[in-house]
Amino acid sequence: MAARLDEKLEPIFQDVLRRNPGEVEFHQAVHEVLETLGPVLVKYPEYAEQKIIQRICEPERQIIFRVPWQDDKGETHINRAFRVEFNSALGPYKGGMRFHPSVYLGIVKFLGFEQIFKNSLTGMPIGGGKGGSDFDPKGKSDSEIMRFCQSLMTELYRHIGEYTDVPAGDIGVGSREIGYLFGQYKRITNRYESGVLTGKGVHWGGSLARTEATGYGTVFFVQEMLKARGDSLDGKTVIVSGSGNVAIYAMEKAMQFGAKIIACSDSSGIVVDQDGIDLDLVKRIKEVERRRISAYVEERKSAKYIEDGNIWSVPCDVALPCATQNELNGKDVKILLDNGCIAIAEGANMPTTPEGIQLIQAAGIAYGPGKAANAGGVATSALEMQQNASRDAWSFEHTESRLEEIMINIHRNCYETAEEFGAPSNYVVGANIAGFIKVAKAMDALGLV
Ligand code: GLU
Repeated sequence: MAARLDEKLEPIFQDVLRRNPGEVEFHQAVHEVLETLGPVLVKYPEYAEQKIIQRICEPERQIIFRVPWQDDKGETHINRAFRVEFNSALGPYKGGMRFHPSVYLGIVKFLGFEQIFKNSLTGMPIGGGKGGSDFDPKGKSDSEIMRFCQSLMTELYRHIGEYTDVPAGDIGVGSREIGYLFGQYKRITNRYESGVLTGKGVHWGGSLARTEATGYGTVFFVQEMLKARGDSLDGKTVIVSGSGNVAIYAMEKAMQFGAKIIACSDSSGIVVDQDGIDLDLVKRIKEVERRRISAYVEERKSAKYIEDGNIWSVPCDVALPCATQNELNGKDVKILLDNGCIAIAEGANMPTTPEGIQLIQAAGIAYGPGKAANAGGVATSALEMQQNASRDAWSFEHTESRLEEIMINIHRNCYETAEEFGAPSNYVVGANIAGFIKVAKAMDALGLV
């Protein structure tokens, strides 16, 4: 693990290890937050007495269930699904569902734990939760995806609701899956309860700009970090790992700010295009045709595809990890720094290893941790809930400007909190402490529940 913990926090962490054996990603996420909370307990000793941190580390409720479904050949499959309802001090549990073969309780808990602080930072009234399944959507037909989603919702519906728990998308879950999930929820409950899920299609209760929000938000955050250093994205070279929803819209917004995107990737390899990535082509390959990123070089002969290539070895000014957890390690960070990288912001959740974070911070370059930098997605989900509650639908421009305002506020809050707690320009300290204090205050007010 990275840094040492404060003497009050070490026993709390040991307890988390003991109570949650084998859940290494969850341990990592908790450690990263506890590393920064020492000064908070000095300023607010009552939080230690009330055992607020111990309570935050224990989910309010964890649901694990079987999802049986049949493939197109009639063969039966069994998957496991999870919903971890972590903390509802600020509002209904809120967070996505992830469909990926790597999903197990430790992944869902790391994501749910991070979500508490992220959602708090958005300033919106949402608690933290997360879910998912070890189902692998790769290569599945539309009907198989539909049957899986229907089977999953046949159990999940009893645990969720617009005032209880509001799932959304994450890796492997986009508007197609949210559609099938919503259809089944509506059928079982006989209620058109729009606010029970976010990331819905824009023609049936979804919000404009929700699809773009996580990627756009990450780039708004980068622009603010650079502004604070008297710089901007204009004319910068950018690499983005991934080519899913977050990556695509991070590339789009960075281009709008005058940056040039020279590389992106998927789990099989990387594409390097020194002329600047053709985003319309990436969108067609990924969003319409649902193919591998290697298809890019079939149409752009000047670009290079490197199977199993390391995206972090492509020299750039700004690096945006937008794929998955622990995709950027210490060795990669050294390469980025040697190549003159000046800013890193996380569109994905916990993409940088503890060693990687330490090296970035020692180098003093701008670093936006996921809790802050990728909060635009869930913030816009909360805007979707607002529109649903008022039976309204806002314009793209209005929704995007609300998102931009939220990201600017998150940046300012993290920046000022870091200064206040003696760690100027350390956005990890700023995000963890600012996110924590808001939840702690609410938990204090709500009593021992
Ligand atoms: N899965 C996204 C996240 O990591 C979005 C969650 C949501 O919109 O509820 O924040």
